[in-house]
Formats: sequence, C-alpha cells, structure tokens
Amino acid sequence: MSIKRYLTKSRFKLATECPTKLFYTGKCNYANQNLDDSFLLALADGGFQVGDLAKCYFPGGHDIKTLDYDEALSETNRLLQLDNVTIYEAAIATEKLFIRADILVKNGNRLNLYEVKAKSFDPMEENPFANRNGTIKSGWKSYLYDVAFQKYVINQALPQYEVSAHLMMADKTATCPTDGLNQKFRLVKDHDGRKSVSISETLTEADLTPPILCKVNVDSECEKIYAGTDDASGQSLSFSQMVDLFADHYASDTKIPSPISTNCSNCEFYTIGSEEEAGLRSGRKECWREILGWNDEDFKCPTVLDVWSFRKKAKMIEAGVIKMSDLSMEDVDPKPDKKPGISASERQWLQIERYQHDDNSIWLDRANLKGEMSSWIFPLHFIDFETTMVAIPFNAGRRPYEGIAFQFSHHIIHEDGTVEHAGEYLNTEHGVFPNYDFVRALKAQLGNDNGSIFRYSYHENTFLNMIYRQLQAECREIADREELCGFIRSITQAVKDSEEQWTGERNMVDMWEIVKRYYYDPATNGSNSIKQVLPAILNSSPFLQEKYSKPIYGSPQGIRSMNFKDWRWVTINDGKVVDPYKILPKMFQDVSDKDLRILSDDDELKDGGAALTAYARIQFEEMSDYERDEIRKALLKYCELDTMAMVMIYEGWRDLLQQDR
Ligand code: SF4
Repeated sequence: MSIKRYLTKSRFKLATECPTKLFYTGKCNYANQNLDDSFLLALADGGFQVGDLAKCYFPGGHDIKTLDYDEALSETNRLLQLDNVTIYEAAIATEKLFIRADILVKNGNRLNLYEVKAKSFDPMEENPFANRNGTIKSGWKSYLYDVAFQKYVINQALPQYEVSAHLMMADKTATCPTDGLNQKFRLVKDHDGRKSVSISETLTEADLTPPILCKVNVDSECEKIYAGTDDASGQSLSFSQMVDLFADHYASDTKIPSPISTNCSNCEFYTIGSEEEAGLRSGRKECWREILGWNDEDFKCPTVLDVWSFRKKAKMIEAGVIKMSDLSMEDVDPKPDKKPGISASERQWLQIERYQHDDNSIWLDRANLKGEMSSWIFPLHFIDFETTMVAIPFNAGRRPYEGIAFQFSHHIIHEDGTVEHAGEYLNTEHGVFPNYDFVRALKAQLGNDNGSIFRYSYHENTFLNMIYRQLQAECREIADREELCGFIRSITQAVKDSEEQWTGERNMVDMWEIVKRYYYDPATNGSNSIKQVLPAILNSSPFLQEKYSKPIYGSPQGIRSMNFKDWRWVTINDGKVVDPYKILPKMFQDVSDKDLRILSDDDELKDGGAALTAYARIQFEEMSDYERDEIRKALLKYCELDTMAMVMIYEGWRDLLQQDR
C-alpha cells in the first residue's frame, strides 16, 4: 500500500484547529484522547447513516472502496474519462494534497462536489452561514473550511473542470416519507470483524422521495475563504499560503509552533493516568515546555484553563497569567448576583482561593441549603434521562435528528429516610419511537403523590419540553395526548423560545443549580458534574461511607434495587473511596478501555455518550441476542447509578447539615 505524507482533509481540519497538532497526529508514541474506533463516533451521531443515505440520492455511482492511495487515484482517473459519472469516495491528489470526496458528480466539464455532514440544516434560514458583517459564523467554519479545502485540491489537480462545492446535510424542515427507514441502514461485521454499512434490499424509491437531506451550494462561502474575507481578525496568511505551510510541514514532519491558547484545553494530545510511565508522550506538555519553558514542577499547578466557567481565560493567557496560583482577586472580580448562594464569579474565586491557600475544606452555604431543603415535599423523586438524536427518523412524518428519550431511572427517598429504586424505563426495540411511552411510564411513576422531583442539570426539562412539542405536532391520533401534555407542563417550566410559557406547580428541582449556589468541595477540581461531585461527597462523608460500605444495596433487608444485588457502593482503595462508576461492569466488552473511558467521560453538561452509543449500537448494529442483553443490563445499571448518585448527594448534604447542630 502506498503511504505518502499527504495533507488530507482530516489533517487539514486538525491543522485549522491548531497547526502544531499536525506534528503529533498519527504517531503512536504520542497519546491521543480521541476515539480510536471511528465507527463508535459515527454510530453516536448518526454519521454512518447520513453518509450512506446521501449516496442513495445519487444512484448508480461507482464506489471506490480501496484504501490504497495510488489504486484509489488511478480508479478515479479512469472513471473521470467518462463524460458523465458519479463517484463515491473519489480520490484526487496534487503532489502534497490528497482528498477522498464523499460524492463527486461529473457532467461534461463540470464537477459537483458533495461533502456529507451529520448535521441538521434549515434551508429556510436567510444567510445561514454569515454574520451580519458578512464573515462566516464560527459554528460553520470547520464544515466550510473542509469543503473549501476539497474544492481547492480539485481545482489544483483538475484545472480543466469547473467545480461547484456543496454541503449535504439533514433538512430540518423535511419529514420522513416512510416508516422504518432508519432500520434499512445497518452496521454489519464481516468474518474478519471489520464493520461496514449494509443497505437493505427493501429500500425503495418511496423511502427516498422526498429526500430528507438537502444539498446546499457553498461556492460563495469558499470564495470568501480563499479571499480571506471570511474572518474579521485579518489572518496574516492567505488560504493557499496556509495550505502550503501545513502541507510542507506535514511532508517534512516538522512542527509548526503555536501560541498557548484556550484551544489547549480541548487538545487531544495529552496523557492521563499512567500513560507517561508506559512510554507515551504528551504533545500538550511538549508545547507548553517549548513555549513557556515549563518543567515537571510547573505542570503540577492547575492553570486558568482549570477555573470553572471562566470567561477571561484567553485574556489571562494573553497577559501571561497561566497558573492558577498567579490569578488575583482583581482578575476574577467576584461579585454577588442578588440571588441566594454564590454567583458564578464568586464560585470561581472560591475555587482559586481554596487552591491558593491549600485549603481542602468543603464550603457550604448552610442557611440557604437548609432553607431550600426544608421546602422539599416528601417523598422525594430523583430522575435521570438517557436520550439521543437519531439522524434518520423511525417513522413517516418525523424529522431528522429529532430527540429520542429511550431510558430513565427513578429513585425515591421517603420521609423516614428509606431509599428505594422505585422504577425505570428502557426501550431499545428496533425501529420503535419510544418518546410517548417514555412519558406514560414517567407519569405512572411520578403521578401517585405530590413529592418534589429532582433532576441534575437542565437536560430533563429541555427534553420534556421537546416531547411536549412533538405531542402537540403529532398528526396521528393519541388518545392520552392532553393528559401527557398536562403532566409535562406540571413538572417542567417552558423553555425560553417556547411560544407557550408556563412554570409547573411541581416544577422539577435542579440539583446542579443547588450544587453551584450552595456547595463547593475542592476535591471536584471546580467541576460540578455529578461524576465529580459523587466521589467527592463520598470521600468527605463518614455517614455515606459507613452506610454504603455494607452490602445493603439490593439486599432483602436493605435498599430495593432493580438491577443490583447485595451491592456495596463504597469500596476503599489507597485510603480513598473508589468512584462508584468505576466498579460497574463494562458497558461494552468489544471496545478498548481507552475508547470506553472517552465515551463515558463526563463534562459539566452530562451528555451520556456511552449510553447513547449503546442505544445506537442496539438499534443499528448487527449483534447477537446475548450481546444485546449484556448492553441492556449495563445500561440499566449505569442509569440506576445516575439517580442513586443524586440520592447519595442528598444524603451527604443532610449529613453535613446535621453535623452543624
Ligand atoms: S497543546 Fe495547544 S499548542 Fe499544543 S498542539 Fe495542542 S492545542 Fe496546539
């Protein structure tokens, strides 16, 4: 197989994020925290389905399957000898540049390039890509630079053609013409275990008419990019100079140094845990050593990038203030915001101050937390949803990328302190749109009393609002539509952009907000994610340690559980409570530990990456009943822990407040 150091579209994309990344990419001695298995990513965002559906809208194309650069190039060249031809994965190259175009259509001397993106688009929107001043919106830049790069390579390699560039995306305004379309695109494994997409033979013209993907011409956006008018910052290099710079450095394997910036916090080239001892290098540390002259000691200090939700990060870095120890009160300017508890800036300063004084004690706004807790009505209900967006709808009449709520868990705390896993819901049935049943099940479980309901972050509220809109717009007869809508209104508040505004009489309490206003534990390192708060509170609460180090969870005399038996949530290792999520069985047996960790990694706004990937795998991947059952069991356990985590945080707070008596 021919291997040449070409600048490809994925390498170009990487370089536009940060040119230094080109030096680290593809080298096995540098740690890379992106998913290794690209199919997992494609499954999670529907990418594999959109890519293959797009090809169906260009029937009769030639698919260039070989991964060998030279073979793919000669096959493409051979096909381009035809007057009219459609090529999938067409290979085009110059001396240093190489692309595989998703779809290339040749009509005489005209080439139409279609880059397929797993993203939804509103074709009715005026100037969808442009800011008021004509520059390109930041959210579209990476997509448009990608297609501009491909058009540039085609123009360089095949100057005899007139080239038009298009993005092909899910049309937000389109509705699916038939039932079951999404089950016609499935991931299958061949006998070597290699995955590929299989399109059902039952796919018909009716499934494809009208299309649910739209083609958007982006020639004028490409011109802006080539002319350098896409950005107001006044880039020093033209597009072609930038491409040359990237291509030359990649070909010669030399590093393009970049200034330290807020981008570094999202950089994938860093090591975690014992990766350095295992011989892996950290690209991020290398950059910081070279640019800032840092040594091993310096890396022990948290930086401005670690300050929670800190908007002045870029400004601080520009001013040369990198370490958290160098931040002053003036830099943060903490100010109250007239609401109970602390404001965001006060919380940032609290995090910095605790670090600077080496103070690991917990901060608690006892009066306000006590007041808040005394307003809660028993029994207390703790709920958590697992959701996803499916690119191709399940049913006729539904839109691409509509939200799907496929799972919830529900714990109750009674007034006498008794805890129980009171209920759950999981629907992974192939091709079944679960949302209305999901709300029915939720209503059946929450509708028997008037107790307070708790969520962690706004996700549950947003999703119930979305299902409310789906119910309102549903053309099919739903006998209990009004009841379900009334129930949703009673436990939510309307989202800001909703025409109809309401605040339900039993509006859910957001524990995430309570954490942010009333509680700070330095062990969370400034993160308010439930996956950071849970281990922190378990480590600080002797009450929780005493209670949950016994095998009471799921035991006959202990706490009722639907998925655990005689389970201990607290196990101690090296004097610290082990994160309860780490003692659960693996979600997938056939995925590397690294990819599993990345899928499960939780940022502040919990997105349940592992759960939605599990759902997509069950829906669209060929697997045995045994494999499917194992994934379902794991999903049930993980979701149960999500609501049990809320219970333990509640119990931890109650314990902390009682210590104050
Ligand atoms: S650490 Fe920063 S400068 Fe280095 S490659 Fe990553 S983003 Fe670029």
